[in-house]
Amino acid sequence: MEGFFGRILHIDLTNRKSWVQTVSEDYLKKYIGGVSLATRLAYENTPRGADPLGPENALCFAASAFAGTLVPVGGKHAVAAKSPLTGFIGDCLASSYFSQSLRRAGYDGIVITGACDKLSYVFVDDDVVTFHDAEHLRGMHTFDTEEAIRAELGDDAVRVSTIGLAGEKLVRFANITNDRGRQAGRTGLGAVMGSKKLKALAIRGSKPITVADPQKLTEKALALSKQAKGPKTEKYRILGTPSNVLNMNRLGVLPTRNYQSGVFEAAEKVSGEYMLEHHVEKAVSCAGCPIACEHITSVRDGDYAGARTSIDYESLFAVGPNCGVDYFPAIIKAIETCDMYGMDTMSTGVTVSWAMECYQRGILTKEDFGGLEPVWGNHAAVVKLIEMIAKREGIGDLLAEGTKRAAAKVGKGSAHFAMNVKGLETAGYDARGFQTFALGCAVGTRGPCHNRSLAYEPDAKGEVDRLKAEPARGKIAKECEEFAALFDMTMLCKFIRGCFKDAWAEIAELFTLTTGLEVSAEDLKLAAERCWNLKKAFNIREGWSRADDWLPGRWLHDPLPEGASKGAVVKPDDLKMMIDAYYAARGWTPEGMIPKAKLIELGLEDIAEDVGV
Ligand code: SF4
Repeated sequence: MEGFFGRILHIDLTNRKSWVQTVSEDYLKKYIGGVSLATRLAYENTPRGADPLGPENALCFAASAFAGTLVPVGGKHAVAAKSPLTGFIGDCLASSYFSQSLRRAGYDGIVITGACDKLSYVFVDDDVVTFHDAEHLRGMHTFDTEEAIRAELGDDAVRVSTIGLAGEKLVRFANITNDRGRQAGRTGLGAVMGSKKLKALAIRGSKPITVADPQKLTEKALALSKQAKGPKTEKYRILGTPSNVLNMNRLGVLPTRNYQSGVFEAAEKVSGEYMLEHHVEKAVSCAGCPIACEHITSVRDGDYAGARTSIDYESLFAVGPNCGVDYFPAIIKAIETCDMYGMDTMSTGVTVSWAMECYQRGILTKEDFGGLEPVWGNHAAVVKLIEMIAKREGIGDLLAEGTKRAAAKVGKGSAHFAMNVKGLETAGYDARGFQTFALGCAVGTRGPCHNRSLAYEPDAKGEVDRLKAEPARGKIAKECEEFAALFDMTMLCKFIRGCFKDAWAEIAELFTLTTGLEVSAEDLKLAAERCWNLKKAFNIREGWSRADDWLPGRWLHDPLPEGASKGAVVKPDDLKMMIDAYYAARGWTPEGMIPKAKLIELGLEDIAEDVGV
């Protein structure tokens, strides 16, 4: 088999055992790789009703056939498990060299079950799996842990996926970090790893990665690399995703002060342009990427001197405008703090902003915050609260549970502005001004995710009337989800998507040249639909109902007060109408369940038996 190894490594932490499962070409052709394969593994290896923080929750890693080949931006891996934040599927992506090492070790995926009896790390060294004490790494920051394990194993080429203190403390939005700052960031999979007392997974691989048609693949890959250095990716190369700040502010959808507004009066001071002028050290790239969107920023002087991190828009909005912070050095410090402790910046920022609004409204007091005064823009309080969350200190213990659980505990109407869907905190676009995205947020299988849905694109690009709800958005949202799944299965970075004329056909060709498996654009479309249904089936098995596909009260009842989206709101009847249209476009029942016939049509016969209606 070219391109794939046909091998899934299973690691049982409880019994300190490992074994290899062989999977067929047909299986790999069906699930393609990445998020799709990782979700399939999670479905197969996690029992119905498993406690997300219990040993039975399978933590599943999967790469794609492109990792380690010349195909540009293919160096990502996926991680999937039942999310401790949502109770549904948590599927994440992270970039860089870890995926190559996973494949060079001779595996397409890794399934980790059970739990260690004390903090440990696992070292996968080609065919040999060993278990190591990690008590001496307890509390260590993510980047330091990577270095410490490399030093301990005596090889700089070892790649490490690790958790920080937040994962150890079971912060429900803890992440998993690899390659000094690439994160499987959302849905709290770092807490799953922490619950298994697994500090890190280290991998070294020495096997060759072969492809089916080296000559043709090289030609195609080089042509794509050339495209990726051209105008279609210029925005990412020059400013990175922080270029969105001024654009979203102009459209009136830049989340500000916990989504109380879509306009931030100091947007210029937190813009990508400001960042480039004052804080960017250099642009760097993930493994095999000619785009290099990642901008390393630092603070040279002042109260946060020495802080250093890479910044993207989603992190920036969450700890910046959404907390009323207009001081760029503090934004760098806040993101660096999240990265070191291993926490999702988006959930962290949105949870902190919820707490700040509770303070604004007198629901939480100075005493609740241990003497802090978290007024909007108090960046020192924001940075301190982030630390307290990671350590579960004081009010940090409550906030470490995420907005849904924290609001349920605090009450007093705070759930109205707890900005989450299914428990996952919302992304950096105010859905009131992006109605297609509003639908995408409501129905998203892992929660309100711009990355899994891409439904903000037709709104932001003006392809539809962004302030209008209509039934046609159901089909559009479905197509956006499946286009995103194309990249999430093949593990190509979405920032290259503008470089294709026909992404389905061109990626199918790359896949065939890599694996030797004949795959057409139509096959990939079916696989993308299968991937989405698989995630939905996972959720149904865990008790999903139509009521879970809904939006926070603020988006449904509080019109945006100012700016280019002034007056916009997601009317509940409009949302219901769009959800009906979406379920119909998917071929689901009006309750959002998947008919058996649909699952059988997608080749998911076993799942049809489990959850089909
Ligand atoms: S475009 Fe950015 S995120 Fe994507 S692979 Fe390149 S450096 Fe990584």
